Amino acid sequence: MSETKKAVFTKEMKDTHTILIPTMLPIHFRLLSTVMAVYGYKTKVLSNSGKRVIEQGLKNVHNDTCYPAQLVIGQLIDALETDKSLDLDKIALMITQTGGGCRASNYLYLLRKALDKCGYENIPVVSATFMKTEQSPGFSLPLTMILQLYYGIMFGDLIMLLNNQCLPYELEKGATQKAVDEAISLSEELLSKHKLLTWNMASDMMKQIINCFKKVERSKEKKIKVGIVGEIYVKYSPLGNNNLEDFLLSEGCEVVCPGLMDFMLYSFANSEFDYELYGMGGALKAKVMHEVNGFLRKKKRQMIELIKENSNFEPPAPFEVTIASAEGYIGHGVKMGEGWLLTAEMVELIQHSHCNNIVCTQPFGCLPNHICGKGVMRTIKEKNPQANIVAVDYDSGSSAVNQQNRIKLMLANARMEQKRQQEAQEKETVLA
Ligand code: SF4
Repeated sequence: MSETKKAVFTKEMKDTHTILIPTMLPIHFRLLSTVMAVYGYKTKVLSNSGKRVIEQGLKNVHNDTCYPAQLVIGQLIDALETDKSLDLDKIALMITQTGGGCRASNYLYLLRKALDKCGYENIPVVSATFMKTEQSPGFSLPLTMILQLYYGIMFGDLIMLLNNQCLPYELEKGATQKAVDEAISLSEELLSKHKLLTWNMASDMMKQIINCFKKVERSKEKKIKVGIVGEIYVKYSPLGNNNLEDFLLSEGCEVVCPGLMDFMLYSFANSEFDYELYGMGGALKAKVMHEVNGFLRKKKRQMIELIKENSNFEPPAPFEVTIASAEGYIGHGVKMGEGWLLTAEMVELIQHSHCNNIVCTQPFGCLPNHICGKGVMRTIKEKNPQANIVAVDYDSGSSAVNQQNRIKLMLANARMEQKRQQEAQEKETVLA
């Protein structure tokens, strides 16, 4: 068996190479790429999509591998093959490594193998990771950059949240998109000027983002709220979930999607739980992570306060609520894939956001998320009889019609419940 070659992203390449980043959340990734530019990296967030990407994934990654790996690697290879503007001698590819026990930690090796197979073995791969094992000499994540990336994610989450609350209700078509564009360019402008924002700058920016969306005139109509949870890639990526958000909008729903910040907070919180539950990592690391977590969670609470003080938009829940939501359903030691976060997000949507209708997205064959998603649904429904959850599998062979039919069935139940509640309310008014 031939050994996979390993082209390394060196310090010198930082000045000469453009790093291609597979997309997942278009708004967030634009902001994160702005932060990277301030730290000296030239990046390009990919936007190629469609059948070609899926075919490249199937051709170059074993079909037993997780669907997100097929899409991410397929998108990178497709860009190399079809984007004629790229100088292949000055290109590097970026892939994340979570460092957990799940298969996502191996995506880097799968990508290298695919590059080798396609004759691109000289293209270096940058591993975006906090792990010591697979770091690239030309890429580092200093503390200030991590914090600045966190602010980028915070702005992205806020724009996504307000977009979801405006788009289904906008009275003037296109007004929400205009607000999104304005909010992104304001955020990009600020992030491109500083290596690290002060909290005053960040909070002032968030007020400006809120003001962009306050200009959108909204109808008072009551739409059915549908939460989207699941494996991180298929939850967020329109390529991974067959444009789920567009489909829900076309069905007249309001989408509620937990933010990316929560995934980051979940990953950091696990260092504390690891020590508490298994004695892993040592007391000092747990103490440091406790301080870091306290700081980052406080930022989220401050963002929530800003939303409440400056608008009538519905803020997300503090991360402390998310942690507590898992209790009684799943242990905090379950951390493969999205682990306890997936269960907690469903409970939080039902109990905190009053969003009983949920689509739980899973890549086909993703064992951990089938356990933390499908596996806990019965308990969630027993404890919250109003819950109306549907689990949908995504992979290259799944038919979009089947997926949509399952979601339509869930929506039919949601509409029946909405009608029942309206009738009960009317009856009450008549009696009063
Ligand atoms: S969580 Fe699922 S999709 Fe992600 S790496 Fe693990 S098995 Fe694959």
